[in-house]
Amino acid sequence: MIKVDFNRPVTVGNEFEYMRQAVENAHISGDGPFTKKCNALLERELGVAKALLTTSCTHALDMTALLLDIEPGHEVIIPDFTFVSTVNAFVLRGAKPVFLDVRPDTLNLDESKLEAAITPHTKAIVPVHYAGVGCEMDSIMEIANHYKVSVVEDNAHGLFGKYKGKYLGTFGCMAAQSFHETKNFSCGEGGALLINDPALAERAEIIREKGTNRSRFFRGQVDKYTWVDIGSSYLPSDILAAFLYAQFEQRERIQSHRKQIWEIYSVGLKDWAAAHDVQLPHVPEDCEQAYHMFYMLLPNLELRQKFIMYLRERGIYSVFHYLPLHLSDMGRSFGGRQGDCPVTEQVSGQLVRLPFHNVLTSSEQEQVIEAILDFGF
Ligand SMILES: *Cc1c(COP(=O)(O)O)cnc(C)c1O
Repeated sequence: MIKVDFNRPVTVGNEFEYMRQAVENAHISGDGPFTKKCNALLERELGVAKALLTTSCTHALDMTALLLDIEPGHEVIIPDFTFVSTVNAFVLRGAKPVFLDVRPDTLNLDESKLEAAITPHTKAIVPVHYAGVGCEMDSIMEIANHYKVSVVEDNAHGLFGKYKGKYLGTFGCMAAQSFHETKNFSCGEGGALLINDPALAERAEIIREKGTNRSRFFRGQVDKYTWVDIGSSYLPSDILAAFLYAQFEQRERIQSHRKQIWEIYSVGLKDWAAAHDVQLPHVPEDCEQAYHMFYMLLPNLELRQKFIMYLRERGIYSVFHYLPLHLSDMGRSFGGRQGDCPVTEQVSGQLVRLPFHNVLTSSEQEQVIEAILDFGF
């Protein structure tokens, strides 16, 4: 029996060569030549005003909360079904999180419930493009613009995905990307802040560089650099940027392989899913997805647990994720109660993610699909 990993971090091109070059460049701290190449590639490919590599998506989100001057008394609307970093960034600044339920089809923030959640204290909405499938950005932007609320996209899953032909991460005033080892493109730990509102760009550089105007100094725009704002150290080593740049260079190959993996699961499991009341991912027509993951919703929690154990006994590693945030210890401390977000409460116990990574082979996938078709309900 061959073991099928859930995730396997791999090199796909010139990673080691570029890391060696970073050392030879004698610039292994932040904002060296490879960081600049990564930033420029993101700006050019996505058409964003500014892209800044960060140490993680979590830190990029932290930066957005600083840039929006989030403070106690503010409310921030977050989907209930997401990773903790989406909410932590704003809670760290003293904001109150308002957990919004998700749509049962895409598991994205339910835009039909958004307007009712807005109060005079609402400062930001943070949609997460779950599984790299775009949220209903037309409705979300219309409501946000009407109430003059900022939109920050948590696009950790969605790099190079599109909604109505426009790249995810280019709708809100800012967006956060992740290059954690589980994401489509990775350097182990890493992220990026995308800035669409040019008015935020200069301050973003300052916050990322410990609250100093060091970036302007290096560009010769000021003759000394000094402490001008709050900030921290959010820039990754150029060694990591070198690794990441090699992955970016292979973006078409990576994305087309991931598309193929997704389609093999989708085709191979379609009839089985329909026959056993298993929900496969839904991708609305307006969305070109980023092929971040393949998930399924089993009929109930008991079957989901049995299913994961069953696959594990066959050497296949599948995982579930995201407990409802409003029912976590922290969520309850903000007033979360059972029944607040019924869809999240339901799907959180049903969801399972199948093995999905950049070197998953078709024979491994065959093994996974065969095992699934044999699962006894
Ligand atoms: C992975 C992930 C993050 C955090 O990314 P890091 O780079 O590990 O900080 C945030 N939000 C979502 C939705 C994620 O999947």
